[in-house]
Amino acid sequence: MTTSSYRAHAQLLAAQNRVLLVEEPGMQPHEAFAVAARRVVMSHPIVDCTTYCVVLHEMGHIVGPGGSTLAAPPRDTKELMARMDEEDAAWAWAKSVALEWTEPMEFVRVWARETYRQSLEDHIKATYCKPPARKIGDWK
Ligand SMILES: [Zn+2]
Repeated sequence: MTTSSYRAHAQLLAAQNRVLLVEEPGMQPHEAFAVAARRVVMSHPIVDCTTYCVVLHEMGHIVGPGGSTLAAPPRDTKELMARMDEEDAAWAWAKSVALEWTEPMEFVRVWARETYRQSLEDHIKATYCKPPARKIGDWK
């Protein structure tokens, strides 16, 4: 598959789904994001299969079932878990519409998902696994 076919397909999907796709050369590939309420995807230009799948993933947050359920950034365990569901839903949509799903694309999916899973784990550890507070009188 060529870069131009990836780009043409992403632009076609954007048009079909009333999404404004902005390919911004000043952005890094991992900085892509979607603004679901505005139906806008901002991303690094599509230059290969990995940047293509990131764009499809971000579109999945707007048009994929379950891709956008939270109104604000997650604040607690329940919302962080809901964000994991959003991530999985957006990737599922991306995979379902992609022209192909290559190993580099799967690597990006797994890498990106891990960043969110790690946030959830960090939150859980910080919230529920604190060492018990010690009273002054306990010290001998
Ligand atoms: Zn995402």
